Amino acid sequence: MEKKLKVGIIGATGMVGQNYLRLLAGHPWFEVAYLAASPRSAGKRYVDAVSGRWHMDQDIPEAFREMVVEDAAVVSKAVGKCRLVFSAVEMDRQSIMNLEEEYAAQGLAVVSNNSAHRHTEDVPVLVPEINHAHLDVIPEQQKRRGWSQGFIVVKPNCSIQSYMLPLYALLKGGYPVESMIVTTLQAVSGAGYPGPASIDLIDNIVPYIPGEEEKSEVEPAKILGKVQDGRIIPDESIKISAHCNRVAVSDGHTACVSLKFASKKPEIEEVINVWRKFSGLPQELKLPSAPLPPIIYRDEIDRPQPRQDRDAGNGMAVTVGRLRECNVFDYRFVGLHHNTVRGAAGGSILTAELLFSKGLVK
Ligand code: NAP
Repeated sequence: MEKKLKVGIIGATGMVGQNYLRLLAGHPWFEVAYLAASPRSAGKRYVDAVSGRWHMDQDIPEAFREMVVEDAAVVSKAVGKCRLVFSAVEMDRQSIMNLEEEYAAQGLAVVSNNSAHRHTEDVPVLVPEINHAHLDVIPEQQKRRGWSQGFIVVKPNCSIQSYMLPLYALLKGGYPVESMIVTTLQAVSGAGYPGPASIDLIDNIVPYIPGEEEKSEVEPAKILGKVQDGRIIPDESIKISAHCNRVAVSDGHTACVSLKFASKKPEIEEVINVWRKFSGLPQELKLPSAPLPPIIYRDEIDRPQPRQDRDAGNGMAVTVGRLRECNVFDYRFVGLHHNTVRGAAGGSILTAELLFSKGLVK
């Protein structure tokens, strides 16, 4: 890559923002040229803004320590500095929508981690291996809002990645699914910093994460939907029932899944074969963050496990195991992914790489 694309991060000081910096340091295509957060951090050097709350295992990458954090609301500061911004802010829904729309109106591509725009019918909720075709709505999104170059693409909720790729691989393999029961065991980093109080979590499981079960049930339909008349029409043919739990794991969301096929039930060996052979456009295009393979099937009886498997494929692969007959549905299995990498910053970086390679952002 001769000239790198200049990118920015809104919410650069948060848990997801720090992961962006960790993953973008030395990125072959992207150069971080703009960091923004709340007025609390604005005007400070990055190293000072995150003092006492840098949570990554590695130190702050040298290139970002002295960068001055801007106030995310002053959008004009980003114009001319970067062409694409990653958005990961903790604000109310309407404020996030307004902020992201303002960046898009100013000509920037916005790749968002936030849920605010996930239900907007002309905003793709992207898993690059699954629904890259949804990027076709972007010209219509721009036309409706009068945006010339800017647009918004979002990433799905971090709870669903552990089962979306395995599910989609089966659909693509010719095995339609009728229904699924999903029980997630979600890591604390998914709640941002400081997250739930330690006294609520140690020696405990919290069987409620606000809004999470609805997202886990509804977002797959949009991701599996079709573009029609410049809008994404959800495919509601699969019934999903989700139980979402917060557990005392630092990183790595697990999903225990029972699944019923709509018509033909493949043999167990065929399911494993479909997963192992699965590959998507990011792998075909050799995008820098694309895991190869995207789905890893482990034969060991006690895998996947968060500590052992969350970093597979640099945190971008989904690890699946324990496929077996189900006494109620057809099969059951366990899926696992790294929630702040594939489920957040890494997933969005993969989306940005796809946008860049398709020439949607130059
Ligand atoms: P976090 O650790 O609480 O960080 C929040 C970030 O938002 C900080 O950078 C904060 O800046 C910034 N912010 C807060 N108020 C703001 C304002 N008024 N204007 C501009 N920036 C403001 O949260 P997080 O875990 O990184 O999550 C960020 C977003 O990503 C959330 O919408 C979350 O739902 C989503 N998400 C998180 C995960 C995950 O695994 N953690 C996964 C997927 C999606 P200051 O430091 O200056 O306060």
